[in-house]
Amino acid sequence: MSARRVVIFLIARPLIAVAIAALVVGVLLLRDTHRQTTPVTARTQHVALSDAQQTQLGSRQYAKTLRDNRADIVASGPAYAEVRRVAARIEAVAGRDKPAFHWRVTLLRNTEANAYCLPGGKIVVYTGILPVTRNDSALATVLGHEVAHATAEHAAERIERQHLTRVAAAIIAGGVAFTPRQYLRVAALLGAADTLPFTRSQESEADHIGLIYMARAGYRPRQAVAFWRRMQRASKGKAPPEILSDHPSDAHRIERIQKWLPEAERAYTPARAE
Ligand SMILES: [Zn+2]
Repeated sequence: MSARRVVIFLIARPLIAVAIAALVVGVLLLRDTHRQTTPVTARTQHVALSDAQQTQLGSRQYAKTLRDNRADIVASGPAYAEVRRVAARIEAVAGRDKPAFHWRVTLLRNTEANAYCLPGGKIVVYTGILPVTRNDSALATVLGHEVAHATAEHAAERIERQHLTRVAAAIIAGGVAFTPRQYLRVAALLGAADTLPFTRSQESEADHIGLIYMARAGYRPRQAVAFWRRMQRASKGKAPPEILSDHPSDAHRIERIQKWLPEAERAYTPARAE
């Protein structure tokens, strides 16, 4: 095809033109992978998405979640106040590792015991987790764990491993993703879908980093053990929620957390009086 015919072809098919433009922009965005070291665990990782790109990707997913669940957003009352209070302290700590992230938290009315943090620092908490957390320290355990997935760039790492960086880049560039299935796979990796988005070792790493985060934020790390025991009891006989996903066993998880407790106790920094 001559260049002129290509242009005519693209003008006649605006969706394809947008997709190609998005792809070109995406490839330009992703020329270099960057090397980063995970907080706390100091593991070296290579990811193609920069902090700014991860923030853009997370923000898009977050905006969609808020649109889709507008009627269930909780924006007042004691549960909302608690989530805001604990999230602010965890965000302040995690923000030292990721100054480029834009932190936000939303509480959604949902009976599922779940919470997640999108790449770039957008946190979603379901009201269903609050009867299990019961107090600020346990909520800090949950938020520490979820935020650790974001600061350790676990979603970006998985997008990379599954060769979906170009799809992610097309989404960032505002174009259409290649196919709905590919888009769903990226969305699943962002942690918002009902799949098992993280690997076992990433879950374990999030437990470790999260424990240090809660301690640095002024919450007693041993409260994490009590919380995971309650979570274990609460999920008996039911399909495990994402937060419990892909773990060898909860007993093993608690064992490992106990192993990290001395390090977390050393990281414990009492919160300043407010
Ligand atoms: Zn997790």
